[in-house]
Amino acid sequence: MEKISVAVRFRPPNPAAADPSPGGDREWRIDDTRVTLVHRAAGPLPGAPFVFDHVFDRAATNERVYGTVVRDLIGAVVDGFNATAFAYGQTSSGKTFTMNGSDADPGIIPRAVRDVFDTVRQTDDREFLVRVSYMEIYNEEINDLLTLEGRRLPIKENLERGVYVAGLREEIVNSAEQVLELLQLGEVNRHFGVTNMNARSSRSHTIFRMVIESSAKNQIDSEDPIRVSVLNLVDLAGSERNNKTGTEGVRLNEAGHINKSLLMLGNVINKLSENGKQRGHIPYRDSKLTRILQPALGGNTKTSIICTAAPEEMHIEETRGTLKFASRAKCVSNCAQVNEILTDAALLKRQKREIEELRKKLQGSHSEGLEQVVLKLRNDMHKSELERDRLAMELEEERKLRMTLEHHLTEQQKKLEGLDNTSISADQFTDSTQLDALKTPDFKYTPDGFVAHRSRYSNDVEVSPLPENLDNIASDDLWTCLNKGCVTDLDMLEMTPGLKRKASLLQDATSAAPLEEPTEARCQRLEKDCVSDRQQLEESNARCAALEKECDLLRDKNSSLQQELSDSKREANLLVAEKQAQLDDSIARCVALERELSVCRQDAERLATEKQELAGELGVERQKMEELKQDIRVISRAFSQREGQLTSLYSKSKAILETCKTSHAATPCLDG
Ligand code: ADP
Ligand code: MG
Repeated sequence: MEKISVAVRFRPPNPAAADPSPGGDREWRIDDTRVTLVHRAAGPLPGAPFVFDHVFDRAATNERVYGTVVRDLIGAVVDGFNATAFAYGQTSSGKTFTMNGSDADPGIIPRAVRDVFDTVRQTDDREFLVRVSYMEIYNEEINDLLTLEGRRLPIKENLERGVYVAGLREEIVNSAEQVLELLQLGEVNRHFGVTNMNARSSRSHTIFRMVIESSAKNQIDSEDPIRVSVLNLVDLAGSERNNKTGTEGVRLNEAGHINKSLLMLGNVINKLSENGKQRGHIPYRDSKLTRILQPALGGNTKTSIICTAAPEEMHIEETRGTLKFASRAKCVSNCAQVNEILTDAALLKRQKREIEELRKKLQGSHSEGLEQVVLKLRNDMHKSELERDRLAMELEEERKLRMTLEHHLTEQQKKLEGLDNTSISADQFTDSTQLDALKTPDFKYTPDGFVAHRSRYSNDVEVSPLPENLDNIASDDLWTCLNKGCVTDLDMLEMTPGLKRKASLLQDATSAAPLEEPTEARCQRLEKDCVSDRQQLEESNARCAALEKECDLLRDKNSSLQQELSDSKREANLLVAEKQAQLDDSIARCVALERELSVCRQDAERLATEKQELAGELGVERQKMEELKQDIRVISRAFSQREGQLTSLYSKSKAILETCKTSHAATPCLDG
């Protein structure tokens, strides 16, 4: 058992407020977790201070409020605990500011949504499926804010789902952005057709809900438990008293309903805060709000309440009322535990299995797009399942109504025939008791009552003998005698809601026909009734047929969605096969390339050896060349020496020759 966490938040003084005593004598003083009413001059006023888990003054931001009061709930929700946070307080005290916030300082809802997805992302060992819904309770009617069609939704209860709003749209989501878009859509739907939104929002409760299913990763065995937890974030209607709103007509009616809901919330909190043994019955069923929030109030949920208050002196009485409510709420204990289920009721079980299979197949083939398509198809299917449930419910109600009408018609016809055949005149009866005996029991209209539909009784018995002494109470023997031995099969008894019949019918049922009414007139009247009954029956049949058609359409839609899903799967398989073929091809090419590479490597090694050898040879050649160059140099030196010698020899010889020539010319020829 743990206590509900209760915080009080005072908003800054409203400069626009028409406070007749802006600087009044009294004010609320906040001292850590205590709130005291003080007289500015004389100090604390009589009365004990209010003490809470947390008290926030005007300077507190939404970030601080969220961090202190709500953040821990988010971790718990992702771990499988239910959690609820709601804002309570008079109109204009800051409930919506606390829940929704502003762009600069987002409130609890956007922060919680982001935290849920962040926490989910960080939880590596589990798979999650998150879905959201958004509803409004206005005039004790539940409206779906995610679709304009979802009006006046009923609350239902069954073993598998507990208390739930039938037909409420749920959207499967996988990012915070997607949720924030849906919330915006909800606000637009809420404004749709509403002339005075401020009046409406101060009179309606909004409940934003996230359902988180999770299971251990990589385990899709049907024996594994699935955790299913619910996070409710609630912005309540203004808690101010009726007389202050000073409204009339429709608005008074609205205010009345709000007061009923909030009054019941107060009653439930009061009862729960009482000592366990004296507590007695808790009136959860007395309003839609308490019925929906039942698990959050004394049940299997971790709950935080933020009570918002206005600091102005003119609001002191309302603020005192809020603080009293908060004090009582502080005494309420809840008992939260992780919700694990083994049945296939968890949507996740079915969806995860399929998505997981696909994901495995698609891993590494960059097919996130296809996964999104599958998720969307699943989402559509889930929605159409919800819609089918709602239609089935309506159909059931219509069928019950039709059965009641048919039964009534049969009774009327039998009566007519009886009158035709026997021509009994009212004059033949001496007192009205005998005439009453001719009437079928359910013919006596009881407002808001139930009638039992007996399907076999009328077939088996033609006439029931009237006992001589008819008492108010029938003993077993008398009952058997009356029914001529026919034993009523209790399993065949079916409770159907009181019939909504036309005024003429009711008149006939409630006031027996005057004794002096002639048979013919009576026959005509009954015939008229028959016609009108038949008409009602036909209308009901038409409605049934329309609903059945709608059901068929949905069934078709469902099967087309199934078809699409299987197409997607087939597409995924093709894609996988294609990718696999590409992969095989790549692997084959890789193998060939590797082979080529190794050949190249061998070549390279061989070439490297050859290169080394050549380099060696080159060295030797170079050496030889150097030696040759040296030789050439020596030779050319010797050559130039020889050339010099030859040149000088030539010059000498030439000189000698010249000398000879000259001497020869000077000496005459001895012969001549
Ligand atoms: P409620 O939902 O209780 O009727 P609102 O949240 O609409 O009240 O608040 C009324 C006005 O006061 C709004 O203009 C809102 O912006 C402002 N307000 C409320 N609380 C705060 C706060 N803590 N800080 C700043 N402004 C606030
Ligand atoms: Mg508000």
